[in-house]
Amino acid sequence: MSPFENREFRSHELVVFGCDEPAALRVIIAVHSTALGPAAGGCRMWAYETENEAITDALRLSRGMSYKNALAGLPFGGGKAVIIGDSRRKTPALFEAFGRFVDSLGGRYITAEDVGTTTADMESVAKHTRFVTGLHRRAGEFGGDPSPKTALGVFLGIKAAVKFKMGRSDLDGLRIAVQGVGGVGYHLCRLLASEGVELRVADVRASAAERVRDELKAHIVPVESVLAEDVDVVAPCALGAVLHNRSSAAMRARIVAGGANNQLAKDSDGIALTASGILYAPDYVINAGGIISATREYLGGSTETQVTQEIHGISARLTEIFECARRENRPTNLIADRMAQDRIESAQRRLVA
Ligand code: NAD
Repeated sequence: MSPFENREFRSHELVVFGCDEPAALRVIIAVHSTALGPAAGGCRMWAYETENEAITDALRLSRGMSYKNALAGLPFGGGKAVIIGDSRRKTPALFEAFGRFVDSLGGRYITAEDVGTTTADMESVAKHTRFVTGLHRRAGEFGGDPSPKTALGVFLGIKAAVKFKMGRSDLDGLRIAVQGVGGVGYHLCRLLASEGVELRVADVRASAAERVRDELKAHIVPVESVLAEDVDVVAPCALGAVLHNRSSAAMRARIVAGGANNQLAKDSDGIALTASGILYAPDYVINAGGIISATREYLGGSTETQVTQEIHGISARLTEIFECARRENRPTNLIADRMAQDRIESAQRRLVA
């Protein structure tokens, strides 16, 4: 099926398919919008079952990046790359070929790590293009793996949601379930544990869950039912499309606030959460810490303190969205979408004026 006919196509500016047979690279790059600046967004590597599934993911994720960057106030548009393949079989040559492909777009798209890719992979990309970030931290420079920064933003967002919904300024004694304790989830658990949170965690990789159990005294719960745990907050930090009719109906938490991208299976699933009295922190607002870090690294000249301060802005942004949603009696995800669209559309108007 052509990308134009895909249900996730929303006037994306560019969708390109890249192939390098010797390096076994098959990649799709989707640029949703460059109205606010070059399209920035990570590169995901995943063993998609069909090409269509990969196109859908690239279209959805790139739009999410446009909205994320717009609401984070960054001078960047939104794009995303998806490499079709099993990340357990990736090679430096594959990422070098990807780097050449990114370079051929002349800076319209800037890449970084995402699920299935790492800082080391981005170093391979950087051999062939300067349009890459999330590289190893150099002495005296800001940068590196963005996931601790994403986790910090999610932690601050959880605090903002708890304050709004429960009227509490601290997390001491609260029960929080974390789905997926990889890069983001692990660092989030550390921050939550330091505030006295009782952690319940689930991960399809037993070793990842056991690490959090051993280091932070978390309880391991089943992967299938982590979102239905009897807790105050659930934090999806694995993959997307986990919030849908069935999971919302089974949910006992009153707050959903986590780092995963595209948590709602469909935009309308935000309506079901609101109707059940569950406060949902829109994913691309709460998980913007990583892209704030990666784009500041790309632009250069920022210090750790400045970037941390910028990430603290996520709390106020979320509170504004929560208040607006309550005033208008509308789902938080639709409020955030509208705010992001307004920013992108006014930038587009300035460009054509
Ligand atoms: P990761 O691959 O390091 O961690 C994901 C973890 O989830 C892994 O440990 C994996 O085993 C686990 N997992 C996968 N499926 C699961 C399931 N069904 N149930 C439970 N656990 C499962 O990835 P990450 O970098 O931590 O990213 C996690 C999510 O956050 C992704 O959706 C990503 O797009 C999003 N995100 C990440 C960043 C970042 O800075 N890394 C920034 C913004 C958004």
